[in-house]
Amino acid sequence: MGLRDFQARRGGFKPQAYRFPADYPVQVQFARELTDALYVVEHSNPDNWTQWAECTFPECYGCEQNRATVGWSDWAQRPRLYIDARIDGSLEVICQTLTPSMLAPKLEAYYLQHGTICGILFNVTRTGQGKKTKYLLDPVDDSPRPLTSNLRLRDYLTSIPYAAQEHYYNK
Ligand SMILES: [Zn+2]
Repeated sequence: MGLRDFQARRGGFKPQAYRFPADYPVQVQFARELTDALYVVEHSNPDNWTQWAECTFPECYGCEQNRATVGWSDWAQRPRLYIDARIDGSLEVICQTLTPSMLAPKLEAYYLQHGTICGILFNVTRTGQGKKTKYLLDPVDDSPRPLTSNLRLRDYLTSIPYAAQEHYYNK
């Protein structure tokens, strides 16, 4: 029995957010408006960027690390966007921080100009690596096509109980 089966049997199976291929445009059709997306306050371990989880303030390992740092800290709370979309034919969840190089500010600009992102078909390209990662968003056309999703965005969150957080962030 593999780890995934074990977690599934324990009810701990967590579906994974979509990973964009490098330097290759994919067609993305968003299944809801930005205003209906899920925004979650999270922390990432600055020495281990792949470990992030929901902030559980007031009892929260990430907040403790942030308070222990003088001045600006990489452990600071960060909002992350969760939104579902059809990508190359299958329904996926995109999960990203809101920094300027990511998709959220570009989607917001499109939304403010056109009043919608739901059903619009975009080409999305990921370039660069690690902290230099950038996303490009280009509409294929500006007319929405109907799309619904039955994905539950909350299923894609990483929520770790306080007592297990130190181990989780540092594993
Ligand atoms: Zn926190």
